[in-house]
Amino acid sequence: MIKAVFFDFVGTLLSKESETVTHLKIMEEVVKKANAQIEPKKLLEEYEALTKEKFNQLAGKPYKPIRIIDAEAMNELGKKYGFKVPENFWEIHLKMHQQYGKLYDEALETLKALKEKGLHVGMITDSDNDYLKAHLEALGILELFDSITTSEEAGFFKPHPQMFEIALKKADIKGEEAVYVGDNPKKDCVGARQVDIMSILFDKTGEKREQWGECEFIISDLREVVTIVEEL
Ligand code: CA
Repeated sequence: MIKAVFFDFVGTLLSKESETVTHLKIMEEVVKKANAQIEPKKLLEEYEALTKEKFNQLAGKPYKPIRIIDAEAMNELGKKYGFKVPENFWEIHLKMHQQYGKLYDEALETLKALKEKGLHVGMITDSDNDYLKAHLEALGILELFDSITTSEEAGFFKPHPQMFEIALKKADIKGEEAVYVGDNPKKDCVGARQVDIMSILFDKTGEKREQWGECEFIISDLREVVTIVEEL
């Protein structure tokens, strides 16, 4: 019997489209403040490619503050395009996330439906604590979670098993009593399955089809989580 449902945050509950808008707003602010001679859209493309590369290298490795990784990426681009990154870059980052972050349409009703069933609803996410708390508060969903496990707390990035083991301990359950919903087959499905947590891949458009084999369930709408949990 399933007793807990854990969620990834970015790209699973937090819409990817809103994340792109947020990052563009950050780049616009940086370009304006630094008086940089580059199109914010072009800067965004490079920033996303660079941070993606950095995070891929850190998968499963010891935690390093994301605010530092993001600042390093921004500084590299500042150097490349000859501008000085504003000193309050992290504050801009936080502020824009609070202002422009949006959940997927069906996220809230899904979380509430699971809570109503008496399930432990948790989050397991590669994140800094301050960023996550500020973001969840702005979205008005912080109180909905029975537990939150971040990389900062676990000391590792997904798919390191420590992330999942800590979450299980908080819910006081075994792996087979939980499901994990995420949008990254390599980090989320592989990570969860190491500790016997059933994995559910949220793949809205089917673009991750080639990696579906890493996951036990594939969904395109978060509400399907409720049905899966009922049937297990
Ligand atoms: Ca994600």
